[in-house]
Amino acid sequence: MSEITSHAKVVIIGGGVVGCSIAYHLAKLGWKDTLLIERHELTSGSSWHAAGVIHTINSDPNIARLQEYTLKLYDEIEELTGQDCGIHRPGGIYLASTPERMDYLKQERAKARYMGLDTDFISLKEAVDLNPLINPDKYIGALFEPLDGHVDPSGVTFAYAKAAKYYGASVINFCPVLETNPQTDGTWEVVTEKGTVKAEYVINAAGLWAREVGQLAGIDLPVQPMEHHYLITEAIPEIVNHDKEIAVTVDYEGNAYTRQEHDGLLIGTYESPCQPWAIDGTPLDFGHELLQPDLERIAERLETAFDRMPALAEAGIKTELNGPFTFGPDGNPLIGPVPGLKNYWVAVGVMAGFCQGGGVGLCMAEWMIHGEPSIDTWAMDVARFGKFATRDYGREKSAENYTRRFLIAYPNEVLPVGRQQKTTSLYEPLRAKGAFFGVSFGLEHALWFSPDTIDPEENPTFRRSNAFEHVANEVKMVREGVGALEIANFGKHKISGPGAEAFLDKLMANKLPKTGRLTLSPMLTPKGRLAGDLTIAKIDDETYYILGSGVAQEYHRRWFEKHLPKAGVSYENASDRLHGIALAGPKSRELMSRLTRSDVSAEGMRFLDIRHMDVGLVPCMVARVSFTGELGYEIYCEPQYQRAVYNAIEKEGSDLGLGWFGSYALMSMRLEKSWGVWTLDFRPDFTALEAGLDFFVNLNKPVDFIGKQVAIEEEVQGPEKRMIALKLKNTDVDALHDEPVFHKGECVGYVTSGGYGHSVKESIALAYLPTKLAESENEFEVEILGELVKAEKMNEPLYDPSGKKMRA
Ligand SMILES: Cc1cc2nc3c(=O)[nH]c(=O)nc-3n(C[C@H](O)[C@H](O)[C@H](O)COP(=O)(O)OP(=O)(O)OC[C@H]3O[C@@H](n4cnc5c(N)ncnc54)[C@H](O)[C@@H]3O)c2cc1C
Repeated sequence: MSEITSHAKVVIIGGGVVGCSIAYHLAKLGWKDTLLIERHELTSGSSWHAAGVIHTINSDPNIARLQEYTLKLYDEIEELTGQDCGIHRPGGIYLASTPERMDYLKQERAKARYMGLDTDFISLKEAVDLNPLINPDKYIGALFEPLDGHVDPSGVTFAYAKAAKYYGASVINFCPVLETNPQTDGTWEVVTEKGTVKAEYVINAAGLWAREVGQLAGIDLPVQPMEHHYLITEAIPEIVNHDKEIAVTVDYEGNAYTRQEHDGLLIGTYESPCQPWAIDGTPLDFGHELLQPDLERIAERLETAFDRMPALAEAGIKTELNGPFTFGPDGNPLIGPVPGLKNYWVAVGVMAGFCQGGGVGLCMAEWMIHGEPSIDTWAMDVARFGKFATRDYGREKSAENYTRRFLIAYPNEVLPVGRQQKTTSLYEPLRAKGAFFGVSFGLEHALWFSPDTIDPEENPTFRRSNAFEHVANEVKMVREGVGALEIANFGKHKISGPGAEAFLDKLMANKLPKTGRLTLSPMLTPKGRLAGDLTIAKIDDETYYILGSGVAQEYHRRWFEKHLPKAGVSYENASDRLHGIALAGPKSRELMSRLTRSDVSAEGMRFLDIRHMDVGLVPCMVARVSFTGELGYEIYCEPQYQRAVYNAIEKEGSDLGLGWFGSYALMSMRLEKSWGVWTLDFRPDFTALEAGLDFFVNLNKPVDFIGKQVAIEEEVQGPEKRMIALKLKNTDVDALHDEPVFHKGECVGYVTSGGYGHSVKESIALAYLPTKLAESENEFEVEILGELVKAEKMNEPLYDPSGKKMRA
């Protein structure tokens, strides 16, 4: 039995494609003391039996970028190691047979433009030339991506491992990890069958066993292995007679992916209902094994495929394969440091390891070595899930995602599985008022209201939905009178103790507020990029609340905890402990004054004041702040009181015309003010100066806050790009995000968020463009669903540019 080393900087658990890619990237970027431990031999999870199809398309552009990186990496590791990766690049065709699917493909093509990819539409005749099996009568359009193809899954995994060793990493096989024990100094003891390794960092890349390995560290990961079939046919004459390899093909409505395998075809499908595998745990002795095929389950899908590729119906089946692989709740991987667990990282739920493994490895290595990945990995960050993502939540959502793999994901779609798990005391009363609910970080919250309907429905669409007129009414109500919005879903963090002020001063780029006041402040990474766009509230000398994005609450928790000193400061994610209601509109002061005996007059409570006061019978914390651009107040209270605050608001507001509004109206109103939001316009892809948040960065404050030095240099040199607001002309389709922006026919940037400004009656978009263009040019075009829409730069917000209303 070979010995295992007693120390390593990083231990990676799992020698599938993901673990091997991470080992390669860590060693290549400089952490040579990396040890990969594999239970059996490399590829002993799902990696050995993958279909090996590779493509760049992904709904998240940053993941798509990483897929592009992965695809291009194969030549490099093959050349470096001499290990054959079985690279085939016949290109990939994406077929549409409905107008909605064409819209989807147009969006994908649009994204590819600003990513610099050559993805483009081809005629159906060209599609048949690339894949003579398809029946063109069944389709209305085809998109072609030249980078797509397939690889040999084992070859790739071994090539990563060889390349990792080339750069100095070690790999040990036949060595199951039995325990991972955290030490008081933040390091880990990794106990294996061959001895114990002391490691600074542990990475769980255990694929099919990610849940079991997670439990060794006391965490439940919301991922689930799913059964998946593909078939390989005998030789097909149309393939034999074709002069080149046929293109990899995805037929969305036919729910099938295909690629050439020798002279036959490999065909796979994502069936519904699907079959989660090993729900109670992946057997520890499962090795290079497959599952019993169950062709009944995919029979209907196969018939559709035969109808669309008639030659298939005649072909004999050579191989039937059913193998498990692991999905996450939204189909994207879960990577990065686990919040609340020091030096424990994961790279799990990677369901397309051969498309994404390289990018995942790169991001993990950059993040560990440089402190942050070079692009925003939010769509893959493990911190996008919290306590609500239990194992069964993971199982149900992963199964939902599996069945929806080839269905269109509409931007306004709210998926049905895992709902009403986390609700507030206002769920039923707002439901009775016709709320249409969305879900954010597990919590139900109203998106819009249909006053005459209980449980309204919204038509999934890339265009304006049936919610449009209702949202218009909500915006009008707020702009002209007063509206109430539940804000339980906002992120709230409590920082307290004698060291709180010094701690926050180091993290926040703006000066801290005085007691009883609020300040807006970005948080920067050491590279000067945005780590947060937050509101700081100073309650007393030792107590601060930080208000921010609800979905990013665990992301921010991780950031605060990472920088927490050993003593003197306490941190609490108070998001679930504080719920709340915002009042907004010119009549909100009148309503507020009826709700409290405290002085809420313009002088008594100034813009950006915060204080404790009773609202009705309830002890609350009230902030004078607004994300609508109107006069407004945010009332925070403990959850058990929220219903009483609601009752008081309802009672006192009725004769003022009070109504409730949802997140859609809020988004419309913030766009009218040209304000960005976290995860779309503000995120670690941009600096504060690029995002126009430099107004809230105080370079003169004496404290050397994180990112200050880079911010100073950027101030001198000027930013590379800038966010601008655009008014889109003559369009009845709004931009959403990720639409390319053109200037004189050239793609120069992209939209980060967009929508309709209901009170100004304009379609608005926020976009990032190179600084020179952003500053000197006024006329642009935005590609929306294949159409070029004229767009004019706005030099000031369309609504209340001076901010008089909000400060009234
Ligand atoms: C039928 C099928 C078709 C597929 N087709 C494609 C495709 O066309 N394109 C694509 O991109 N992806 C495809 N996939 C998905 C792809 O296979 C996975 O995304 C990929 O294999 C995930 O790799 P991984 O490294 O995360 O996990 P795994 O491959 O499961 O590797 C995990 C490793 O961890 C080891 N391990 C577990 N526990 C321990 C322990 N306690 N100690 C030490 N080691 C441990 C295991 O032995 C295993 O080797 C397909 C999958 C299937 C099943």
